Amino acid sequence: MSIVVTGATGQLGRLVVEQLLERVPAAQITAVVRDQAKAAGLTARGVRTAIADYNAPETFEGLFTAGDKVLLISGNEFDKGRVRQHQAVIDAAAAAGVALLAYTSAPGTLTAALADDHRATEEVLRASGLPYSLLRNGWYHENYTEHLAPVLEHAAVVAAAGDGRVSSASRADYAAAAVAVLTGEGHENTTYELGGDEAWGFAEYAAELSRQTGREIAYTPVSVEALTGILTGSGLPAPLARILAGVDASIEKGELVVSSGDLSRLIGRPTTPLAEAVGAALKG
Ligand code: NAP
Repeated sequence: MSIVVTGATGQLGRLVVEQLLERVPAAQITAVVRDQAKAAGLTARGVRTAIADYNAPETFEGLFTAGDKVLLISGNEFDKGRVRQHQAVIDAAAAAGVALLAYTSAPGTLTAALADDHRATEEVLRASGLPYSLLRNGWYHENYTEHLAPVLEHAAVVAAAGDGRVSSASRADYAAAAVAVLTGEGHENTTYELGGDEAWGFAEYAAELSRQTGREIAYTPVSVEALTGILTGSGLPAPLARILAGVDASIEKGELVVSSGDLSRLIGRPTTPLAEAVGAALKG
């Protein structure tokens, strides 16, 4: 029996494995990766690795064992049919009879196109008959704090979210929630709405950046169409730019405010404040 983490060389997956290593022996952890070279650091620490690709269902055959607890981290290849990709993992896990499959989904309130793959994957998972846990992750602080260069260059936070608020949390917080579910008991057939303890608006975010940099940084609200154009202009493919700008429209409607308290309850501590993530990003 193993705790199996897919997407283990991604940003969330690495944090999950790191935090699992604090709780369970390395030999009980299997990191599923598509590039063995990227997993060198994990194997050096005694974590088992398995090579598999969401696009090749046969690579997941025989990968799981009855009783495993699995974290399926949603993929990031928007143009490759993520539901079909996730189904390959779920089918293999069902064939093996794993004890739990936890899936990193999106908040139940989110109606943006970004949520479509997540809702469809949730359906596949429920239909599989597997014991499941839906980790409906809210927005990461890092979606903003890892992209500070243009904000600092133009002294402007540009978003299409109006006065909308978002209760983001750090990736490490969401990783901790996944670890709590994978190492704890009683999480079968659960749905967790995960988000930060405090919601913030973009004017407040700009004010926090001003405070920490000592420069005047303002919030410039724009339309969804304008933001799509800005993102495309900065090199994002148009379909992805539309998806991301669509999330801002959802933020304006309040769809990324998560008030369940599930995240801090699962991790047993308050979530990381945005100001802390800003500080860490500015230190670089
Ligand atoms: P990430 O760093 O982009 O990680 C994505 C992971 O998925 C990587 O490990 C990647 O493998 C793996 N992957 C992608 N396609 C795959 C395939 N065909 N076969 C096997 N593995 C594949 O993203 P993250 O920050 O860790 O976030 C995890 C997921 O949450 C994302 O993929 C996305 O679905 C979602 N997300 C959520 C938010 C949020 O704010 N809640 C923001 C962004 C994304 P490699 O390591 O080999 O590249």
